[in-house]
Amino acid sequence: MNKKVLILPGDGIGPEIVGQAKAVLSLVNEKHKLQLELDEALIGGAAIDATGQPLPEETINKAKESAAILLGAVGGPKWESLDMSIRPEKGLLGIRSSMDLFGNLRPAILYPQLASASSLKPEVVAGLDILIVRELTGGIYFGQPRGVRILENGEREGFNTYRYKESEIVRIGRVAFEMAMKRDKRVCSVDKANVLEVTELWREVMETLSKDYPEVELSHMYVDNAAMQLVRAPKQFDVIVTGNMFGDILSDAAAMLTGSIGMLPSASLNSQGQGMYEPCHGSAPDIAGQGIANPLATILSVAMMLRYSLGSSEAADDIEKAVSTVLDLGLRTPDIYAEGTEKVSTEQMGQAVLAALQN
Ligand code: NAD
Repeated sequence: MNKKVLILPGDGIGPEIVGQAKAVLSLVNEKHKLQLELDEALIGGAAIDATGQPLPEETINKAKESAAILLGAVGGPKWESLDMSIRPEKGLLGIRSSMDLFGNLRPAILYPQLASASSLKPEVVAGLDILIVRELTGGIYFGQPRGVRILENGEREGFNTYRYKESEIVRIGRVAFEMAMKRDKRVCSVDKANVLEVTELWREVMETLSKDYPEVELSHMYVDNAAMQLVRAPKQFDVIVTGNMFGDILSDAAAMLTGSIGMLPSASLNSQGQGMYEPCHGSAPDIAGQGIANPLATILSVAMMLRYSLGSSEAADDIEKAVSTVLDLGLRTPDIYAEGTEKVSTEQMGQAVLAALQN
């Protein structure tokens, strides 16, 4: 089995949070005798500064040879004036599409210790455990033709194309149904089938696919209603499956139900089981370099990586338990701080997880 793990710290708070996550990965590597080989490479703004490119050839080659990739985050004001084609975010889109990482898993879990951090009432969110499965390499973000053109009357018109092939819908649908089989066996497919033909097809394909999973209950919801239901009664959902753009928006809303984006991991998988694991948040330039970023989303991404790409659920459970222990101890980075708890730095939080893993 491929044991290579590529680490891409990236920009902003990326190197700070990845530093803590790497220490956790190294510890479980020894503790659980996983024999993982860790390597590091450049991406995003850091890669632009060093090579002029957001995704150097060397990084793509190393990524393709790895079983899993751990990414911090990319981007920041320093690179915002660059041409769109060489911005840090291109590095991220490039690695997703060159490795065909089509299946994005974004769990929204509310730790009971953090119920008061949510902007919703604790009774609405306590015990929340949703998995959003978002299609990541197709849909309107990638559809051709696209651009801005000049019309005959001289007015400018921007246009994008929303398209999905049947095969693309089937493969993301399968991911959702397979995940549901390991959970509460409910899939809600989110579309806009009342106005968009592409999602009418999406709905039909999901229906057909559901026949392969008779134990899983499939329901459908329009995206506007899904947005409303997520903030009204989020616990009604188990697995949500949706396209790239709707998933982008709904998963951020789901993230906020849990109180802090600093707690949420994510995985992006391809059909060979390779995966890229990263926190849901960005490079947070507003707090970079201050040592106050929450490293838990990245540490929990390591747990997902062990579970989904490296076949070690035991080590994954160990990390998730350690995170729960530090929350029980009342340790909080500023983003999840509440009165009566202890405010700690990025490094102190990382050290506390390491200590919990050693006990
Ligand atoms: P962001 O997620 O970086 O930050 C949003 C807010 O959340 C900020 O106030 C930030 O301080 C806070 N925050 C984020 N992560 C945190 C953490 N771990 N601990 C504590 N607080 C945290 O989103 P943004 O401000 O819209 O984007 C900033 C940059 O990140 C942009 O350049 C954007 O393009 C990039 N970005 C990258 C990714 C990625 O690499 N996957 C994703 C989103 C945004």
